[in-house]
Amino acid sequence: MMAKHFNIPLFLPELACPFRCSYCNQAAISGQLKIPSLQEMRATIETHLQSIPKGDNHIEIAFFGGNFTGLPEKYQKQCLEMASQFLQKGQINGIRLSTRPDYINESRLELVKEFGVTTIELGAQSLDEAVLEECGRGHTVADVNSSAFLIKSFGFRLGLQMMIGLPGDSLEKSLETARRIIEAGAEETRIYPCLVIRETALEQAFRAGEYTPLSVGEAVFWSAQLVETFDSAGVKVIRIGLHPSEELNSNGYVAGPYHPSFKELVITEAWRLHFEKQVWPEVNEIQIEVPASERNYAIGYGAKNKKTLLNRYKKVKFIANPLLQKRECIISQIAPCS
Ligand code: SF4
Repeated sequence: MMAKHFNIPLFLPELACPFRCSYCNQAAISGQLKIPSLQEMRATIETHLQSIPKGDNHIEIAFFGGNFTGLPEKYQKQCLEMASQFLQKGQINGIRLSTRPDYINESRLELVKEFGVTTIELGAQSLDEAVLEECGRGHTVADVNSSAFLIKSFGFRLGLQMMIGLPGDSLEKSLETARRIIEAGAEETRIYPCLVIRETALEQAFRAGEYTPLSVGEAVFWSAQLVETFDSAGVKVIRIGLHPSEELNSNGYVAGPYHPSFKELVITEAWRLHFEKQVWPEVNEIQIEVPASERNYAIGYGAKNKKTLLNRYKKVKFIANPLLQKRECIISQIAPCS
């Protein structure tokens, strides 16, 4: 059994961001703009630790939000010192942080390494130059590649986050971004559909009819193909879409592909695409063996995939097979009762 992963998120909103990306308004997304004090962060960590069930856990403190390595050094050190005390006491297994690709250099990495940071996530968003420029990211594809290389050479685990449906994006560009994320050596990724959030440049473009967000259906279709691409390269997809309860303040949402069960829709679609490639036997009753952890996704959100198969077969049975992984499946005729 693999250890269960828990992140204890500490949110540092838009701190030290040199640019305001056209789609970003963190106060509207998270409902939080205040910078937490060290004491507040410590209390948050304690609360999370108490709520995590005992067992084979892998727990990380995660500094999210803005641009960690762009913060004043003194503040970075205070945050990391506080987090590393939990590491030294064996209460957590690692520290992760997210930052911008143009705020990585050797001295910044040396500083965070000293305090036991294990994973660095970069907001890559797109690895298409025109898309980056259009959304005002303020960094280039080369910045992402050189930072990724440096992070790996320091021995950190590398995460590269991507966003789909940004202005100027296309399915092909998103798939190319995924391929470049894989080439850059990322061990993990997050896929976020671009939403229109209030008080952003993107909101103005949307209201002026200059930007059309993806529909939920399009975002699901794109994401399913990205998940397939990452899965087959062994890159772990640690998040698909915004978290429904924590990360979207209802006042902040203007438009775009938001769905509280976005991940379920995406994995349902990934299975649908996978089923399309299978050879289906000409029988009346069918059983499909799938990995235990994937059974519900294979059946589909609202049993979508099962219902589609029931148009063709009288009986469709999904069985958990612990020997299978990811999107592996074995399709056969339901054995007659003996
Ligand atoms: S770098 Fe991240 S936090 Fe900063 S403005 Fe851009 S999207 Fe927002």
